[in-house]
Amino acid sequence: MATPKRDIVPGPIELKGHPVAEFERLFEEHGIRKYRARQVYDATYINRIDDVRQMHVLPADLQEKLATEFRMQSVTLKHLQESEDGTKKFLFELWDGRTIESVLIPSEMIEEDGHPRRRTLCISTQVGCNLGCEFCATATLNLTRNLSSGEIVDQFLQAQKYSEKPITNIVYMGMGEPMNNYEAVMRATQIFNDQRTNMVAPRRTTLSTAGVVPGILRMAEEGKIIKLALSLHATTQGLREKLMPIAKRWPLPVVMDALETYYRITRKSITFEYILFDGLNDTEEDVKRLAKMARRFPTKVNVIPFHEIDFTHPTGFAAELRPTSPERLQWFIDRLREEDVHVLIRSSSGLDIDAACGQLALSDSV
Ligand code: SF4
Repeated sequence: MATPKRDIVPGPIELKGHPVAEFERLFEEHGIRKYRARQVYDATYINRIDDVRQMHVLPADLQEKLATEFRMQSVTLKHLQESEDGTKKFLFELWDGRTIESVLIPSEMIEEDGHPRRRTLCISTQVGCNLGCEFCATATLNLTRNLSSGEIVDQFLQAQKYSEKPITNIVYMGMGEPMNNYEAVMRATQIFNDQRTNMVAPRRTTLSTAGVVPGILRMAEEGKIIKLALSLHATTQGLREKLMPIAKRWPLPVVMDALETYYRITRKSITFEYILFDGLNDTEEDVKRLAKMARRFPTKVNVIPFHEIDFTHPTGFAAELRPTSPERLQWFIDRLREEDVHVLIRSSSGLDIDAACGQLALSDSV
C-alpha cells in the first residue's frame, strides 16, 4: 500500500526524533558505529547542540557525513511574538515551507493558593487539523500532514533557546489532534521523558485529546504514564456534537467509558478542559452534569475563558459563540467547588498575541 503523502519526509533523514535504540539501528544502517548514536543523542538532547560540526566528540569525517546525510534542525524559527504577560508565540517553518505554532506560557495555571512556578510549552502535532471544532482557529486550516517526531521534539529545543528558565511542562494541545499522529507523538514523548535528557518528566507531560477513543484505549493498554486531558466543553451530547463534530463518531458516553477504562488500568487522574461559552454551557444544569462526570473517577476540571476568534471571520454556529462574563465564570467555578470538584482556572495568557492554546491560528498561510 502506498504511504499517505502527508507522512512522507523526503530529503535528508532527520537527526532528531529517534529514541535511542532506534537511533542506534539507524546509524548502523548508515554504516556508522552504534556507540556514535549515543554520543550524538547526548550532544543533541543533553548538551543541546544543534550543529553536528560543533559536536567535538565526533571525528571530522563523521561530522561531515552526518551533515551531508542527515537534517540536523527539524523546525526553524520564522517569527517570535511576545505578550505583555511573558507568553511567547513561535512560528516555526518546516522543511517543506509549511508553518506551525508553539506557545510558551510562563505560568499556565493559577490556583487559589498562589501562582505555580512553571513554564509550559504548548506543542503542535499536525499541520492544521481536520476535526473542525467550532471554537478553534486551527480548525479553519485543513489538515496538511502529520508532524514527524523530530518536528515535535525540535519545537521544544528551539523554544528553549528563547526561554530564560528551563521549560518544565509540555502539553500536546497546539495545532492538531495528537491521537491522530499517535506514533510520532509517543516517540517524541519517549525522548522528552528519557531521564538522561532531563527534558520533561512524564507527570509534567500532558496529551490533550478531543475524544479519540481508540487512542485513549491504546494509551491505557500500553500503560502510558503521561497525563491525559479531554477537551470536554459540553455536558450534553447535543451541544458537544455542535461544538465538536468528532462527538458524532465517539459520543460522550463512549468517551467516558474509555476514560474510565484508562483510569482503571493506569490509576492516573484525568483532566477535563472546559471552555465556557455564554449561555451555552454555563448553567446550573451544566454544573450538576459536569460534577457528576467529574466524580466518576479522579479528575480535575480546567475552566478556560473563551478567547473570541473574530480574526478568522467565523460563520454559522462559530460566530454565535461568546465568552461567559467574568462574574458568571466565577459563579460557575464556585458552584463546581461546592459540588466538590477539583477546579483549576486556565489564565488568559497571551491573549494579546492570539496565543490561547487550542485556539491557535496562523496569520501565515500553511
Ligand atoms: S481544538 Fe484541537 S482537535 Fe479541535 S480543531 Fe482545534 S486543533 Fe483540532
